[in-house]
Amino acid sequence: MATISPSLPPQEESAARVVSDQRLRDRFGRALTDLRLSVTDRCNYRCVYCRTGNEGAQYTELAIEEYLRMVRILVSLGIEKVRLTGGEPLLRSGLVEMVRELSTLKTAFLPDGTPTNDGLPLDLALTTNGHLLDGLAMPLKEAGLRRVTVSMDAVDAETFATITRVPRSYDRVLAGIRKAADAGLGPVKVNCVLLRGFNDHQIEGFAAFSRRENVIVRFIEFMPLEEDRSWRPETVVPMREILKRLDAYRPLVELPQHSASETARRFTFDDGIGEIGIIAPVSQPFCGHCSRIRITSDGKLRTCLFSQSDHDLYGRMLRGGTDEQLAAYIRQVVLHKEERHHIGEPGFEKPSRNMVHIGG
Ligand code: SAM
Repeated sequence: MATISPSLPPQEESAARVVSDQRLRDRFGRALTDLRLSVTDRCNYRCVYCRTGNEGAQYTELAIEEYLRMVRILVSLGIEKVRLTGGEPLLRSGLVEMVRELSTLKTAFLPDGTPTNDGLPLDLALTTNGHLLDGLAMPLKEAGLRRVTVSMDAVDAETFATITRVPRSYDRVLAGIRKAADAGLGPVKVNCVLLRGFNDHQIEGFAAFSRRENVIVRFIEFMPLEEDRSWRPETVVPMREILKRLDAYRPLVELPQHSASETARRFTFDDGIGEIGIIAPVSQPFCGHCSRIRITSDGKLRTCLFSQSDHDLYGRMLRGGTDEQLAAYIRQVVLHKEERHHIGEPGFEKPSRNMVHIGG
C-alpha cells in the first residue's frame, strides 16, 4: 500500500497524496463515498406520486450474502456510508442480520484518502416508511444501525392515508419514530416530499411537528421519478416558497452545513427549537458535490438517480467474477458518472427506472 513520507516537502507531499488516494472517483474528481443499497423493491405503501397502484406482485431481491459481497468490495474502494433502502427495507427478511454484518466493516481509507487497515466503522443508516419501525427499531440499533430517516408526507392521519393509500398506518409510523428516538437511532429525520395540491398545506404542521417531536423535518422537492410519469414543474413546491411559508410561521435561522456534500440547507427557528432541512434537487441542484452511487435490489449499479441505464454488477458476479474483477468493473463504471441531472431543461429524459425500483 502506498504511504506518505512525513519528510516530503509540501508540494511533493500533496502530489503523493493524490497518487496514494485510490478511492473510487469519477472523471470529474468527485470521490464516491456514499452507497444507497436497495434490499428489496417491494413496498407496503402505494404512494400516489410514486406508484401507479396497479403493480403486480413481481419483485426482485438478491440473497443477503450477495449484497454483502458487493458492499465489501465497495468499502474496499472507499465507500464510507451505507444507507439501506428499497422498496421498503423493513419488509426484507434477514435485514437485522445484514446490519449486524455491515456493522463489522471498517472504512478502507483515512479521510485524506490514505489507505488504512485501521479504518472507522461504516456510517450505517436506513430509510423507511416507518410502518414496521416500532418493532424493529431496537433490534436494528442493537445490530449496529446508527440512524434512521422516516418518510412521512403528512402530519395528519387523513392526508397521510390519502397519499399512502394505506389506512390506519399514521399512528404506527408515529410510534415507530418515537421508538427509533428511544432506541438511540436519532436524531430521527423525517422526510416529506411536497406536492402542490396534495400536501403543501402541511408545511406549518410539519414545523410544529419538528418542534414537538424533536425530529429533523426535511422537505424534498418532487422529482420526475414516478411510475405513471405525472411529474409537472408546477407540482414542485420550490425551496424559496417553503422558506417563505416557514419564516412566516416563525422566523427561521440558518444553520451551518455539516459538510460540502450535504444535500440539505438547514434551519432552526428563532428560539432554537426544531430543525428543518430543505433538499432542493430541482430548483437548486447539488450534483457538483454528489458523492453517491446506488445498487438496485436486482444488483445493478447506478451512478445517478437520473441515469438512462444501469450496470449489471450482479450479472458479473453470477458469471464468476472475482472480487478484483468486480472492483475493476466498478471503477470503470463510476468514472462515467453523470456530471449532473437535467431536470427542467429542454430534452430532459426521465430515468430508465422509477424511484421504487432504483432505491430512494
Ligand atoms: N420505503 C422507504 C421510504 O419510504 O423511505 C424507502 C424507499 S422510498 C422510494 C424513498 C424516498 O423516496 C421516500 O421518501 C419517498 O418519498 C421518496 N420519493 C419517491 N418518489 C419521489 C419523487 N418522485 N421525488 C422525490 N422523492 C421521491
